[in-house]
Amino acid sequence: MSSSKDGKMIILSSPSGAGKTTLVKLIAEKKDYQISISHTTRSPRQNEKSGKDYYFTNEKNFKDLINKGEFLEHAKVFNNFYGTTLKPVKEKLDDGQNVIFDIDWQGAQQIKNKRLKYNLITFFLLPPSREVLFTRLSKRHMEDKIIVEERMKEFNKDVLHWTNYDYVVINDHLEKCLEKICELIESEDNEKKIKYDIQFIKDHVNKLIS
Ligand code: 5GP
Repeated sequence: MSSSKDGKMIILSSPSGAGKTTLVKLIAEKKDYQISISHTTRSPRQNEKSGKDYYFTNEKNFKDLINKGEFLEHAKVFNNFYGTTLKPVKEKLDDGQNVIFDIDWQGAQQIKNKRLKYNLITFFLLPPSREVLFTRLSKRHMEDKIIVEERMKEFNKDVLHWTNYDYVVINDHLEKCLEKICELIESEDNEKKIKYDIQFIKDHVNKLIS
């Protein structure tokens, strides 16, 4: 049972290109949440720093961490390994700090299944349209059209995991989406769950994958 002093866990997942990383940073700033820093075996992108964006590591070290049981969750995403170590997360939560995670659906499912004592709220983010998604991915991977194609294909599968989340939010406008997520978190804090229109989301997902 979570004590009233414990922090809570907020998970944001989305298919690649829905704008999740930007939102996680904005939510963390606005609500003074701690962002969980993952380990990954992928190479750093320009402007990414180890210890800030990720702990960049190699496959051997990553597997050592798995074998030592250090991960709260870990998964293979787009041919690279990603994982969240338990210790820093637990320390923050026990200290009453709220922790926000930018992780994929596999990691979200693993954390849910662990049934930790801390309160957990999960969000799944959707792009407003396939066209917007394609534009975002093309800007991010300008040098590599194959990656864009792969991620568009992956999108059709990833998006189906929306059903396992507490809330699904469409990121059609960054500020509005930020406000919506903060409003939903606050309503959970006040134990007043806001219902979202599941049929609307179903229809939106069908449009996205058709
Ligand atoms: P990127 O390489 O674009 O930073 O991230 C690729 C995907 O991996 C994103 O969906 C991101 O949310 C996810 N991801 C990042 N860190 C973790 C992690 O620690 N665990 C899991 N399961 N997924 C992660």
